[in-house]
Amino acid sequence: MHDMQAILDDIATKVTALPDRGKVATYIPQLACVDPDQFGMTVALPDGTVYSSGDAQTLFSIQSISKVFTLTIALGKLGDALWRRVGREPSGDPFNSIVQLEMEHGKPRNPFINAGAIAVVDAIMMGHQPKETIAEILQFVRFIADDNSICMDDRVAKSELLTGDRNASLAHFMASFGHFKNPVDFVLGTYFHQCSIAMSCEQLARAALFLVSDGLNTSNGTRVVSAQRARRINSLMMMCGHYDGSGEFAFRVGLPGKSGVGGGIMAVAPGKASIAVWSPGLDHVGNSKLGTIALEMLAERTGWSVFGH
Ligand code: GLN
Repeated sequence: MHDMQAILDDIATKVTALPDRGKVATYIPQLACVDPDQFGMTVALPDGTVYSSGDAQTLFSIQSISKVFTLTIALGKLGDALWRRVGREPSGDPFNSIVQLEMEHGKPRNPFINAGAIAVVDAIMMGHQPKETIAEILQFVRFIADDNSICMDDRVAKSELLTGDRNASLAHFMASFGHFKNPVDFVLGTYFHQCSIAMSCEQLARAALFLVSDGLNTSNGTRVVSAQRARRINSLMMMCGHYDGSGEFAFRVGLPGKSGVGGGIMAVAPGKASIAVWSPGLDHVGNSKLGTIALEMLAERTGWSVFGH
């Protein structure tokens, strides 16, 4: 058995001493206000025990990590029909890229690039008002994290709306193929709100527990999805969770993971633990710089990997 607390404390000490912490995202002005000098990490075990180090209770903007939760909701509502709207191949392109969309007739490569996540929101809205779908997403996140205090940060959602020309372009472009069932502005508003969910590493690690044990949150006995669905969500995180950095992340960390431009990463060691790490500075493709290094160190010290045992 590992001394998990000692491992996390040691990782926190080592990574926070590194000179290059990457750069905080500035294209969403509200994210640019975040102090880059922060680092937190939590490991949650299937029985619900959590080990944390650093700023693991501080709330941060989960941004694209929310795409895992909306994908889970969409699969619950539509099942395999979702794959008519969005593919499941890695894109090899930046998260907000538009080039593939034209060649592939408005069908996004996967649910984790922005275009794919926006299409997923359109799929789950089903004619509802934005505030209803926003409430549904929040409710689901509170349910899987077993924590009713989780909220959205309206300032972040508004900030992104004001500067969201790229996402609006992606959405209108998809709508031009006749793919959208809801007004584009409704879909975008809902998408910006899901990205603005604020969580701590501890909350995020708990929220990911259902992906550790084949769809069952064994800490409270709640079944969230079937075993097959949990495995498929993990496979998508492995192939697409870090955009054009997904291959690098698989190579270095060897675990399914999903990043967000707020600097968070949620990762899953199937059968072993869920992990959340946060540090706002990003690398050149928009993934947390220290977060990735910390996960690499954790995988090395625990031996956790989906590519061996
Ligand atoms: N809300 C962000 C955006 O749409 C999410 C991107 C991310 O976290 N990679 O640009």
